[in-house]
Amino acid sequence: MKKLTLDDIDVRGKRVLVRVDFNVPLSNDTGSPSVADDTRIRAALPTIRHILDNGGRAILISHLGRPGGQPNPDLSLACVGDHLGTLIEERVRFSSNTVGDTVREVIDGMGDGSVILLENTRFEAGEKANEPEFAKALAELADVYVNDAFGAAHRAHASTAGVAEHIDLCAMGRLMEKEIEALTRVRDHPDPPTVAILGGAKVSDKIGTVRRLMDSYQNILIGGAMSYTFLKALGHDVGESRVEDDRLDTAEELFEAADGSIVLPNDHVVAAEFDASAESKVVHGDIENGFMGLDIGPDTVETYRETIMNADTIVWNGPMGVFEMDAFAEGTMEIAEAVAEATDNGAFSVVGGGDSVSALVKSGYTERISHVSTGGGAMLTFLEGAELPGIDALTDA
Ligand code: ADP
Ligand code: MG
Repeated sequence: MKKLTLDDIDVRGKRVLVRVDFNVPLSNDTGSPSVADDTRIRAALPTIRHILDNGGRAILISHLGRPGGQPNPDLSLACVGDHLGTLIEERVRFSSNTVGDTVREVIDGMGDGSVILLENTRFEAGEKANEPEFAKALAELADVYVNDAFGAAHRAHASTAGVAEHIDLCAMGRLMEKEIEALTRVRDHPDPPTVAILGGAKVSDKIGTVRRLMDSYQNILIGGAMSYTFLKALGHDVGESRVEDDRLDTAEELFEAADGSIVLPNDHVVAAEFDASAESKVVHGDIENGFMGLDIGPDTVETYRETIMNADTIVWNGPMGVFEMDAFAEGTMEIAEAVAEATDNGAFSVVGGGDSVSALVKSGYTERISHVSTGGGAMLTFLEGAELPGIDALTDA
């Protein structure tokens, strides 16, 4: 279903409540909290700029971390507001109240074209519970609601979904639009040859995505810990590798149903311990007891690279190994390079997932990817074909 976008709304003179995803990593290195990685803040700038340039009042809301429904000074958005101010070179007001009369008065006194950031929505218990009281209190602050928090759109919380029930005009922001366009392209009409690369920690997170993609994708390259659940299900020894024993049947069923499109690693970088300084070696085929697979091996990298280089559409979620440890990062870095090269040669590539994007940043190839998604769970939910409450709640176009 098509939803309203910023192009359908005149924001001039309006109070525009914008749900952004400012759930950014903070650092305390300098003694006071600061933003360690501002990718998500930058991703929201087109929407914020649009509202300010067109004479709207931008009222920004976001969650940060998991404060558990009560105030926690370590998870205040105050420093994020300061950071935003330096990025847009405008004064960014900050309100330590998320809702209520005080903040409403501040907003009423603001001029058009100005911006305020409200405190962490998860300081309120009503946020995650999607309580109508809290959703209504948010709605009372504004005339228009814009959801630009793609990364949180798979959650039905008050600020991502509930609030939209109490405001007539609810639209997607620019980032949301861009995410949906890129992800719809790879999900619904990918140009063949197609390749999906799926890795990361758990099969259970990605079953729905594998199921959906195996109908339309010619190659599903599996890496990371989830490959060991597949390999074990198919009768291989995987030693002490991370396996989800309650998903063995599902993994076997998926592998059979995919009818050859699911490809599993045939060599591995293994170690006796899950440790950055553990001695590692490459093994082909089965993994003996006492060892665990922590990265895909060089032969697998070569096979995967060839498939990737031939592809016109590439979707990637989930690292190929424990890339946080240099000894087990090679596979992920090589795959990142292959995806970047294939993109240079004309493929359309999408990479998403919190850890996958960190790995991509570590590889230095971010700029060469067609679309880097700000969503992890949201991207998987979208690719699965499931509805996202944060999009569903918006006004139909
Ligand atoms: P994303 O955040 O991109 O969606 P996931 O959270 O699913 O990715 O998985 C990332 C995590 O998986 C990383 O922390 C990585 O260390 C871990 N991982 C990858 N391969 C292995 C492995 N072979 N054994 C254990 N953990 C792994
Ligand atoms: Mg993760």
